[in-house]
Amino acid sequence: MWIDPWLIAVPLKDRFPMLFNLEKDKRCLEWTRTPNAVVELQEWNDLIELLDDVIIKDTPDKWVWMGGNNKEFSVKALKEFLISSVDFSDRFVMQWPKWVPRKCCMFMWRVVMDQIPTLSALQTRNTFSEDVSCSMCGDDIESAYHLLCVSQVASEVWFHISRWCKVNPFIFISVKDLVEAHEFYNVGSVAKEALHGIMHVATWCICVGIVLHGIICSIEVKPKEIFQDIKSLSFLWFRNRSKYRNLCWKSWCKFEF
Ligand SMILES: [Zn+2]
Repeated sequence: MWIDPWLIAVPLKDRFPMLFNLEKDKRCLEWTRTPNAVVELQEWNDLIELLDDVIIKDTPDKWVWMGGNNKEFSVKALKEFLISSVDFSDRFVMQWPKWVPRKCCMFMWRVVMDQIPTLSALQTRNTFSEDVSCSMCGDDIESAYHLLCVSQVASEVWFHISRWCKVNPFIFISVKDLVEAHEFYNVGSVAKEALHGIMHVATWCICVGIVLHGIICSIEVKPKEIFQDIKSLSFLWFRNRSKYRNLCWKSWCKFEF
């Protein structure tokens, strides 16, 4: 009677808590005393009103699915029920540049999802409890944002890229800006397509430069060299993996299409 939802969508104990408190046996209707307080009587009247429409039949009880319009359970109905209360309005869908190899796109996706093992990400997952200052400069917490967007090495690389691509210097508020930056520049469609991919290639190359050279091998990281790698690697991929097969190195260096 009280515990399972049967008359309305929620159990009656939740809809009529004062009456439920008065129950001697919580499975049926047996009071410790008669309801007499105002709120108890109000609940009692409401319950009587609800029960007015109920016809009790002499048939065995059965379970019904209350998550959908019809009372039949199905996996589809369960799926619809589960996602019905989820708010997808702030869902972020990444557009992958078609000409960039999947490893770079996957890497960028992991960056945006904070899935790369920076010290701060490891600390968040309770797998690292020591100092999380940047392993390269120690100026800030070692996060994906710091390493790839605003560290000294990254800033210098992004500055070179903005000059090469003839756009205003990048301002990154979060790592998400790495995948959306190309949208904010008033450049031609080919340049936009190129810039979109270059952001991915650059993020990949900055990480490789910082991690391989700076953190693992402890050798000096040279932003200008990373930039040159980005330029040549992206040229190779853009020319061979996009429809612009006639692009020459000179045009690429001038960022003219
Ligand atoms: Zn740093």
